Amino acid sequence: MFKGILIEGSRSDQQVSLKAIDEAQLPEGDVTVDVAYTTLNYKDALAITGRAPIAKSYPMVPGIDLAGVVTESSNSEFKAGDEVVLNGWGVGEKHWGGLAQKARLSGDWLIPLQAPFTARQAMAIGTAGYTAMLCVMALETHGVTPDSGDILVTGATGGVGSVAVAVLAKLGYSVIAVTGRPEEEGYLKSLGAKHILDRGELTEPGKPLARETWAGAIDVAGGQVLANVCAGMKYRGVVAACGLAAGMDFPSTVAPFILRGVTLCGVDSVMAPKEDRVHAWKRLAQDLSPELLDSMITEVPFDEAIDAAGRLMDGKIRGRVVISVAD
Ligand code: NDP
Repeated sequence: MFKGILIEGSRSDQQVSLKAIDEAQLPEGDVTVDVAYTTLNYKDALAITGRAPIAKSYPMVPGIDLAGVVTESSNSEFKAGDEVVLNGWGVGEKHWGGLAQKARLSGDWLIPLQAPFTARQAMAIGTAGYTAMLCVMALETHGVTPDSGDILVTGATGGVGSVAVAVLAKLGYSVIAVTGRPEEEGYLKSLGAKHILDRGELTEPGKPLARETWAGAIDVAGGQVLANVCAGMKYRGVVAACGLAAGMDFPSTVAPFILRGVTLCGVDSVMAPKEDRVHAWKRLAQDLSPELLDSMITEVPFDEAIDAAGRLMDGKIRGRVVISVAD
């Protein structure tokens, strides 16, 4: 038996609890992992609270991320004792996930734990941090450099936002952090933000084109916020969009794209190819300061993870959640 969070019932009436689960119930896969650490991402919180249809079948173990040690493998790339990390691939949605002491997975979804990170640090980064790095890489691919001008990061005190601010600042970019939590100015400046912008400046419908202000942006919000971000980009500015914290809609016009040559790049972490993942993790090892990563962590005991999901949805958790499941 092992401990895990189980979402049971149905889409319209789900129950979530921390339970003892029989190993015989583990799904199919060619690699079995003893999970050491996991985390709570926005998507995990949506799944646990039932605020969006993340679990695609029931019962489901949530958790889109895990870090642990291989105990059994018939996959040629992994053997017992290997330290591995998993991000996404529909795990925690369609396949039992990381909020459990054991997981059985396809080896094709796993990557080796990136040195010098520990399993705990890898989960402090998690999908949120790895997505932040994919966003930074998208800006670079489209020619944004520290000389281009200010870079806007929305949802800055959240998981993606915190890592994005820290990485961009370390790379020498001038970062403007957008937040709905002005009391976190000290935290955001400690991560390297140059200025703080109140989220309220971006939430009301604006003009199709606003003053040219930002050379690049990483947006976790979507909705009206993303529309206003696009309207305020400089000529040939680049926006990496990865989230929907403000909404799924996009009430924009084509004006920023056809009159200012703005590029809007979509960033997806779930199905990103393995080489992009490995590259993003290598870049995180190079460009994310371990001390700043430590300052982002909220440690949550495994038996409080369900409550913490509600707090994360309510915007009451700053940075990244780390959960040790091994005890
Ligand atoms: P967090 O909950 O850690 O952070 C989200 C942050 O967004 C909050 O902390 C808050 O920051 C801000 N926010 C909350 N509500 C609103 C709102 N109504 N308008 C504008 N900003 C808001 O989540 P993550 O950082 O883990 O994820 C952020 C988003 O990115 C989510 O939508 C998630 O689904 C998405 N995501 C997408 C991925 C992909 O592959 N495309 C991968 C990972 C995440 P503050 O208080 O500072 O304003």
